[in-house]
This record gives sequence, structure tokens and C-alpha cells, in this order.
Amino acid sequence: MSILVVGSVALDTVKTPFGERDNALGGSATYFSTSASYFTEVKLVGVVGQDFPKEHVAFLQSKKVDTSGLEITDGETFRWSGKYEFDMNEAKTLDTQLNVFESFQPKIPETHKKPDYLFLANINPELQLEVLNQIEERPKFVACDTMNLWIDIKKPALLDLLKGVDCIILNDGEARMLADVSSLIKAAKEISSFGPSHVIIKKGEHGAIYYEKATGSFFMIPAYPLEEVFDPTGAGDTFAGGFMGYISSQDSTDRETIKQAMIRGTVMASFNVEEFSLDRLATLTHEEIDQRVGLFKEIFRS
Ligand code: AMP
Repeated sequence: MSILVVGSVALDTVKTPFGERDNALGGSATYFSTSASYFTEVKLVGVVGQDFPKEHVAFLQSKKVDTSGLEITDGETFRWSGKYEFDMNEAKTLDTQLNVFESFQPKIPETHKKPDYLFLANINPELQLEVLNQIEERPKFVACDTMNLWIDIKKPALLDLLKGVDCIILNDGEARMLADVSSLIKAAKEISSFGPSHVIIKKGEHGAIYYEKATGSFFMIPAYPLEEVFDPTGAGDTFAGGFMGYISSQDSTDRETIKQAMIRGTVMASFNVEEFSLDRLATLTHEEIDQRVGLFKEIFRS
């Protein structure tokens, strides 16, 4: 099975209480595809400018990510700059430069138009919709992400998009904002009424909540108990990559597979936050993932 992901490929400038990094590799599709590549075949669609370092494309290819749908166009690469205070759960966006994304019109290559699984990573929901409309056969499972910026300025497009997806993965602040309620339990139910039959709300170091509309039931998972979080950037996308990657590897979306997928997502995110940018995912091995999945499952044992 394979996954198609469309989202941002970026150069990030990030400041945390433990250090800072300028113009590091980032972007929602970058984190997602690197994480998912540990479980399944990944095809990436996105856009970068002429300034995007070639070694970053080589890095994605070294993870066997198919980058034939990554457009390199005139102009500068999307740039995001953010800052974390001691409470590392929420990034404060300092600057967003859309650059090549301002005129980007996603063109899904013919070879990519019938994906088994589709992930619409965080970008303008109008672009996410354009992608969904180009898909020729309904994928087995379509999931998406979004962020406060789009809930704020593109809510109608986002609500349109949600009618066409099976699952949304978003963080607690975004869920409260989208549903306009304080309780996350109510928010999950409200968001599912917009379309998605599966809703995942991530709560940073407090884990994640899963809501299944069909049964009206919840499943909750803790975060992996890490002592040091160095840079939380990309944790959400890395979670989504592990989650969707595992689903694709099992070719199933039954309840047990979804639980196991949430464990993989949590474990992948826990590695990602240990170092800046994608540095930790660059060296991560399958053995390390398996070992941490085992340790994490011990937490559930009663
Ligand atoms: P996360 O920490 O998982 O929410 O995602 C962080 C990544 O999202 C960073 O690498 C950014 O480049 C990317 N990002 C931030 N703002 C946006 C935006 N408005 N559109 C698309 N990607 C973004």
C-alpha cells in the first residue's frame, strides 16, 4: 500500500529555551513523509523555490520518499518562524512567508491520482480541497490536519474540506477553536458532525484522544514519558505520519489497527522532539522504534 501526502515543505527558523536554528528543513509534508516512510511507501506533492537546498531533497529520497511530485519553481521556499516558551506544548508563530505557496496550484501527477491512502497535511484548506478534487478514485482513508491560522481566516473552505475526509488530526487548541467549545469531548463530537467519522485530538505531553463517530466511543492514549523535549516542531505531523503509515502497512482501519496506529504515531513524535528539525528522524532505526513501542505498551499494562 502507499500514501500520497500533500503539504508544506519549508525552511524553519525555530527558537526554544534550549537553542535555536535558522532555515532548517521543516514543513508539514516533510515531517509526515519522513515519519510514514518507516512503515509504508510515500509519495509527496509540494512546492519549493530555487533556494531549497538539494541535500534536503536527497534526504527525503534517502528515506525512499517519492519526490517526483515536488515542484521546484521560481521564487523562495515557504518559510515559517516560531518560538516555544518553557511550556513546550504550543508554538508561537513569529512569521509566516508563504512565498512559492502564494501562487501554488497543486498538480497531482497522473501516477499519483489513485492513492490507497491520502493525507492532506497542513496547508491552506483551499489547496487541500484542490488536491482532493484531483483524486480519481476514492482512497481507502483520507485524513487531514489544519492549524489556527486557517481556522481563523479560511473556515468556510475548511468546513467544505471536512465533508470529504474520513479523519482529522488536530491539536487541543485548534479543536476548541474549530468547534467553539471548551470541552475536548464535546469538540470531538462537534467536529465529527462537520464530516469526519474519526477525530484525533492531540494534547502534546498529555497524549491524544480518539473519537469514533459510528460507535460514539472514545479511546485515549498517554504521551511517551520523555524527560527532555528539545524542539516540539513537527510533532503533530510526525504523529500523523506514524499513524497513517501504520494504517497503510496493515491496510486496515478497524478499531484495533487505529489503536496500534496511535501508538506508532505517539512513538514517532516522541523521537522527533528529541532534537532540532528532522535531525532525530535522520538517524532513527526500525530497532529503536520497535523497542520504544514495546516500552510504551508496558505503560498500558494493568
Ligand atoms: P507541527 O509542529 O506538527 O504543527 O508543524 C510544524 C511545521 O508546520 C513546521 O515545519 C512549519 O514549516 C509548518 N507550518 C507552519 N505554519 C504553516 C502554515 N501556515 N502552512 C503550512 N505549514 C506550516
